Amino acid sequence: MADDAIVVGSGPNGLAAAVALAQEGVSVTVLEGADTIGGGTRSSELTVPGVLHDHCAAIHPMAVGSPFLRTLGLERHGLEWLWAEIELAHPLDGGGVAVLHRSLERTAAGLGPDAAAWRRVFGPLTQRFDEIADDLMRPLLHRPAHPWATARFGALAALPAALLARSWATPEARALFAGVAAHALRPLHTLGSAALGLMLVAAGHRRGWPVARGGSRAITDALAARLLELGGTIETGTWVGSLAELPPSALVLLDVAPRAAAAICGDRMPPGVRRGYTRWRHGPGAFKVDLAVRDGIPWLNDACRRAATVHLGGTVEEVSRSERLTAAGRMPDRPFVLVAQQYLADPSRSAGDIHPVWAYAHVPNGWQGDATEAVLDQIERFAPGTRRRIVGRVSRRVDEMAAYNPNYVGGDILTGANTAWQLAFRPRPALDPYRTGVPGVFLCSAATPPGAGVHGMCGAGAARSALQHLRSARTGRG
Ligand SMILES: Cc1cc2nc3c(=O)[nH]c(=O)nc-3n(C[C@H](O)[C@H](O)[C@H](O)COP(=O)(O)OP(=O)(O)OC[C@H]3O[C@@H](n4cnc5c(N)ncnc54)[C@H](O)[C@@H]3O)c2cc1C
Repeated sequence: MADDAIVVGSGPNGLAAAVALAQEGVSVTVLEGADTIGGGTRSSELTVPGVLHDHCAAIHPMAVGSPFLRTLGLERHGLEWLWAEIELAHPLDGGGVAVLHRSLERTAAGLGPDAAAWRRVFGPLTQRFDEIADDLMRPLLHRPAHPWATARFGALAALPAALLARSWATPEARALFAGVAAHALRPLHTLGSAALGLMLVAAGHRRGWPVARGGSRAITDALAARLLELGGTIETGTWVGSLAELPPSALVLLDVAPRAAAAICGDRMPPGVRRGYTRWRHGPGAFKVDLAVRDGIPWLNDACRRAATVHLGGTVEEVSRSERLTAAGRMPDRPFVLVAQQYLADPSRSAGDIHPVWAYAHVPNGWQGDATEAVLDQIERFAPGTRRRIVGRVSRRVDEMAAYNPNYVGGDILTGANTAWQLAFRPRPALDPYRTGVPGVFLCSAATPPGAGVHGMCGAGAARSALQHLRSARTGRG
């Protein structure tokens, strides 16, 4: 009889783990607590009939470049990437704008006096992006396959983002990098805060920042289809509170936050591991706003009208200040806001002239306020008249975010603060970070390496550990 596995949670990491195991002949059942699969990749009509919104993840530089997802041929299961004319625009007061194109050359050319410096930082990273991603999208403690490329990346990544931003002279280039680095939800003056910005810009120059046709749900729908094709099964509406609730199986993989994993494992988890899991820190939260906008947002700047992603946070100084405040538990007057206009790449998401607009603001973890007006103010700052065009609107506070998905503790959509320590050792220092210390039980969520984002690499890494465990158990038996 084939070995069997239960995966708790059907986010992109849970499903990636399930597929990786099923591909090796393991008989897999996925148990999802919510009524629909997908975790952070669900999409539906939230505001106006016929207008399709992504509930969480929207833009997919990490998925399109994922070393694991790229091996699966998910296009056979309906996944199709679509790109807007411009990947990202970052407007400034007074009419300036910085633009990230997929083409490094075009981006550099648009940055005027900063063209050479942009090329110098991102040319080598973009050229060797696949090698760097191959090394970085796995646990820290391993022998790098591409040591020089990875070391070069590491030297820049260790810097504070605000310091690296000084590589450029213009406010536009500095703001462009700061806005991307802010995706880490981490103060820009802290060591290592440049890492995610470097990775996301290089990913953008390598394969762009695409959206999935039909919504981000298409990514996990395709993973689920691949799993079913391999003989796996998925049950929704089944919350798992403890290992004791599960039928016996050789493997259990948990797509949950570390504290939830400690609760599920109960007394079976060794005290040292439990301590590490319960000390896991969560980062700032996200306040989500979905809009249905007639004729789209009337951006003053033409580049913003053509960009799938727009960052609203002003200069590097302003972004630094708002990120420092949110991390310190204080709500800024003008929070950093990310806007996505997926319909520009995927017009099937609109209903006639009514278009879906996705936005969220960085807010303190556990913050109980309503940031809807602050988000709209940031949009109006660069697109006066937006409010008049809004015909549908849904907001989600941070407590609602956590209720929607228990992995988003206090509204932390990254399932863990991106501190330098937690970036290196997630969820605790260990040779094999996916093991929970309970034989056969593994953590596979975004709290494990390489961290948050829709890429499935945490699931693929956990599945590799689990398969190793099965092999050792067999050798032990033999
Ligand atoms: C607003 C927002 C915007 C984002 N934007 C982007 C983006 O543009 N691009 C990007 O790459 N990433 C983005 N992300 C991050 C990305 O969505 C997550 O990092 C990713 O979904 C993590 O995948 P996961 O499988 O680890 O967990 P999740 O996607 O969180 O899935 C976990 C699943 O497990 C289930 N579950 C949890 N506990 C239990 C239990 N006890 N029993 C049963 N089921 C359980 C949950 O219901 C959920 O379905 C965004 C996230 C949010 C919220």
